[in-house]
Amino acid sequence: MSDQYPGAHRMADVPLAELFPELTPDERRRITAAADAVDALRPATDVRRIWQWFPAGRSFLTEVFLDPNRDVELQIEVGPVADGRLACHTQVQVGCACERDHGGHVADPVSTVVGDGRSLADAFEQGVARLRAAAAASADPGHWRCRAGVA
Ligand SMILES: [Zn+2]
Repeated sequence: MSDQYPGAHRMADVPLAELFPELTPDERRRITAAADAVDALRPATDVRRIWQWFPAGRSFLTEVFLDPNRDVELQIEVGPVADGRLACHTQVQVGCACERDHGGHVADPVSTVVGDGRSLADAFEQGVARLRAAAAASADPGHWRCRAGVA
């Protein structure tokens, strides 16, 4: 993730109304509350704690490092797909323990493409629910390497 983009420690400080003018105040509140639930998953060792956004890209993202070695990373991102509609993507990235270093592997990737503000709020809440389930499942890199199909 690049540091050239703006970032904030809380979704309340992300300019959602500028990024997504189609969102109603209630939809913005739903997204902010769901993002706060992501922040609640962060262990004390996850010191980065930042939401970044892409001003021209109608996009924002964060990651949560579940383990102190930063091997298990929950990722959630909202941004446009090829046809210009928005999508919410979630996945778990796990550090590589292969003989050849691939950098990381991905488990349980899900993308939900949406057509309006209400479905964006729905998709983001569902994405956060997936991250909460992943955090509850395990912070063990071995568990997630298995889920990602690597030894
Ligand atoms: Zn690998």
